[in-house]
Amino acid sequence: MSANDVVIVGAGLAGAKTAEALRAGGYGGGIVLVGEERHLPYERPALSKEGLIDGPVGEKVQVHPEGWYAEHDVDLITDCPVTDVDVRAHRVSLTGSASLRYESLVLTTGAAPRRLRVEGSDLGGVHHLRTVEDSTALYAALAGAPRTVVIGGGWIGLEVAAAARSRGAEVTVLEQAPVPMERVLGTRMADVLLRAHRDRGVDVRGGVEVRALLPQGHGRVAAVLLGDGTVLAADVVVVGIGAQPRTELAQRSGLEVSNGIVVDAGLRSSAPDVYAAGDTANAWHPTLGRHLRVEHWDNALHQPETVAASILGVDAPYDRLPYFFSDQYDLGLEYTGWVDPTVAHDVVVRGDEASGRFMAFWLRDGRVAAGMGVNEWGQMDAVQDLIRSGSLVDLSLLADPDVPLPDLDASVRT
Ligand SMILES: Cc1cc2nc3c(=O)[nH]c(=O)nc-3n(C[C@H](O)[C@H](O)[C@H](O)COP(=O)(O)OP(=O)(O)OC[C@H]3O[C@@H](n4cnc5c(N)ncnc54)[C@H](O)[C@@H]3O)c2cc1C
Repeated sequence: MSANDVVIVGAGLAGAKTAEALRAGGYGGGIVLVGEERHLPYERPALSKEGLIDGPVGEKVQVHPEGWYAEHDVDLITDCPVTDVDVRAHRVSLTGSASLRYESLVLTTGAAPRRLRVEGSDLGGVHHLRTVEDSTALYAALAGAPRTVVIGGGWIGLEVAAAARSRGAEVTVLEQAPVPMERVLGTRMADVLLRAHRDRGVDVRGGVEVRALLPQGHGRVAAVLLGDGTVLAADVVVVGIGAQPRTELAQRSGLEVSNGIVVDAGLRSSAPDVYAAGDTANAWHPTLGRHLRVEHWDNALHQPETVAASILGVDAPYDRLPYFFSDQYDLGLEYTGWVDPTVAHDVVVRGDEASGRFMAFWLRDGRVAAGMGVNEWGQMDAVQDLIRSGSLVDLSLLADPDVPLPDLDASVRT
């Protein structure tokens, strides 16, 4: 390896995009991208959508085609967990006895599904969803319309419920909070999702505690036991109770870790020459004035540009506003911004909720903090402009679908 080599640990979206951004920025040194999965780096959103409805996603989710890595002189090592990082010696240890020296190290290790800690969680028929293998196994398990219980009513849980329902399964969603997504979206918008699922026959139950998963013969799950003693028969159980950042390596090597690897706006960690991006990074956000760990595709896609800039000595703080999308049945959702869930926000709706096509805005002190489009596309840039302007918005104009969002800027008061 040459003197100024970059080693990237974690060959997912953020890892592959870091290699791409370095080459696009003119970096001419060696780049090694090491991943523990057997696959080329791939994108995960389809795993809980088309992957569960139409079948295994195959090559179409690859970040780059196979030949790209050699063409860009990126040394991709798959199926090889990194076991240790020595930040003083600037060295990473790979499975086996090999190790690599680095000038710059980028940790893009992603996140792992949180596990349910009740009796029976390891029974057959209990699924988590993170990898291609998880998605393929769940797709197969959903054949024949099994009784499916989804534990957790977050984005992934609700997407799984929608996919399973569209394949004819009898679906129950169990959520600890009173209403799924209420903490993130507030009562009114959480109710839109709740109705979407209930109208299609999903049994959504809030305020539920799961006490145990009960077996039948052969170590397979047969039922879910709830805190109130209810027993729900289940052929398939999907656990979707969130994800935890993969910080094992960072922690062991003494990096600052708190809800992810703590990094500054240039995505630099507490150790010299070590950076982090994607689901695992808890990054200082200059516009929001706080650290934020974002588990969204868009964040893993774009943070690598900042990592590459920092490695190349260019100051390019990461300050994109969080953005994500979700597809459930015929609802396509896009959301951007950030809402502090501990603070009450006003919700303004533009358009007709009942029509299934509208926008919603979350406001604090008359200023837009976040916006969501439901089957309403191409508006997120304008929403982000409103958020960034930090201006007081005329609520009647905001609610009026005939007033283009960019025109609101002209009507704002600071
Ligand atoms: C099922 C599913 C559906 C999703 N849908 C959406 C969506 O609709 N919209 C949206 O905005 N976001 C969605 N997301 C989130 C989005 O996919 C993630 O934010 C994104 O994958 C994060 O990319 P990453 O590169 O940070 O992490 P990952 O994609 O997880 O990649 C990290 C890689 O690092 C590897 N790794 C970890 N530790 C080591 C080690 N020690 N050695 C070697 N390799 C290691 C992991 O195995 C993994 O391959 C979804 C996620 C999932 C799981």
